[in-house]
Amino acid sequence: ALRNQSEHRLEGILEKAGLLQELTDREAAFLLGLQSRDDLDKLFRTARSLRERFFGNKIFLYGFIYLSTWCRNNCTFCYYRKSNSKSVRYRKTAEEVLDAAARLAASGVHLIDLTLGEDPYFHNRKEGFQPLIALVHQVKKRTGLPVMISPGVVPGRILQDFATAGADWYACYQETHNERLFAELRLEQSYQQRLASKEEALRCGLLVEEGILTGIGDTESDIMLSLQGMRQLQAQQVRVMSFVPQQGTPLADRETPARIRELKIIAVMRILFPDRLIPASLDVDGVAGLRDRINAGANVVTSIIPPLMGLAGVAQCRRDIDEGNRTVAGVLPFLEEMGLTAATAEEYLSWVEK
Ligand code: SF4
Repeated sequence: ALRNQSEHRLEGILEKAGLLQELTDREAAFLLGLQSRDDLDKLFRTARSLRERFFGNKIFLYGFIYLSTWCRNNCTFCYYRKSNSKSVRYRKTAEEVLDAAARLAASGVHLIDLTLGEDPYFHNRKEGFQPLIALVHQVKKRTGLPVMISPGVVPGRILQDFATAGADWYACYQETHNERLFAELRLEQSYQQRLASKEEALRCGLLVEEGILTGIGDTESDIMLSLQGMRQLQAQQVRVMSFVPQQGTPLADRETPARIRELKIIAVMRILFPDRLIPASLDVDGVAGLRDRINAGANVVTSIIPPLMGLAGVAQCRRDIDEGNRTVAGVLPFLEEMGLTAATAEEYLSWVEK
C-alpha cells in the first residue's frame, strides 16, 4: 500500500512538472529521494520530454580551454589548489589560446569557454586582467562564437570590461549553498563575495552559469538549498558535477559518489528549470558518461577540447584527452545513438541573444 501511495505521489508530481507548474520544495525533495529503477526511469523520461519541449532534439556543444592552472586559492577538492606540489602548472600564451579556440571552432563547437584558476598573474597585479580582457575580444573575433569566461571571483568593473570586450557568459560555481560546507571546501574565500560576483555579472548583461559539486558532504537539504539559490539567481545555465578525488589534495582518499546522485540532480534541475541550459560534462567520466547525463535531461556537452594540445581538465586531467574522444567528432555518434543531434551555431546564438 505504501508503495502504491508513493507511486501515486510520483505520478502526481511528474504530471505537474509536465504541465510546467512550479513544484514545491517538498515535491522536488521527493524526486531527489527516489531509489527504485522504475521510479528513476519515470523521472528521467519526464526530464527528457521537458528538454524536448524546449530544445527539440538539439544539443549544444561547448569547447573548453583551461588557459592557466596557476591559482592563489586552496580549495580542498581541487587538483590545482595552491598547495598541491604535484599539480601540473602552465599558463598558455595568447597565441596558444587563439590557436586552440580556432581549432575548436573549426571542429563545430558553439561556444568557447575560457577557464583558469585564480592565477595571481591576472588577479594580483594592477591592470592584471587587461591581457585576459583583450584575449576575450580576440577569441570572439577569431572564432565568431560566443565566449564564456571562468576566471574565479573578479571585481565588478572587470566583469563590466569582460562584457564590453564581448564576453557572453560568466561561470562561477558556488559548489554548495550551505555556508558551513562552503567554508570547508573553498578555504578562506568569501561565500557572499562569490555569490555577489554572479549578481554583478547579471547586472553587467552577462549570462551566468551556477554550479554545484556533489558527493562532498552535501546532504539532500543542501542540494535543495542550492536549487533554491539557482532559482533566486535566475542563472541561465545550471550544473552539477560529482566530486572526484584528486591526487595531492586533502580529499584524495575520499570516494567519488555513485553517479545516480548527479543524474537525479540533473533531472530535477531540468524539471525545475525546463528552459535553462544544463551541461553534461565530459570532465567527470569522459564520453562514457555522456549517455546517462543526456538521458537525465542535460542539453549541453561541455569540456570538449581540441585533441593533443596538452590542455588540462578540471576533475579528470587525463580523461580521454590523449584518446582524442573529447572532441566534437567523438561526441556526435553518442548523440546520434540517442536520436539527438548537434544544434547549428545559429540556433545556439539565437538562444544566447534571446
Ligand atoms: Fe583555484 Fe578554482 Fe581550484 Fe579553487 S577550484 S583551487 S579557485 S582553480
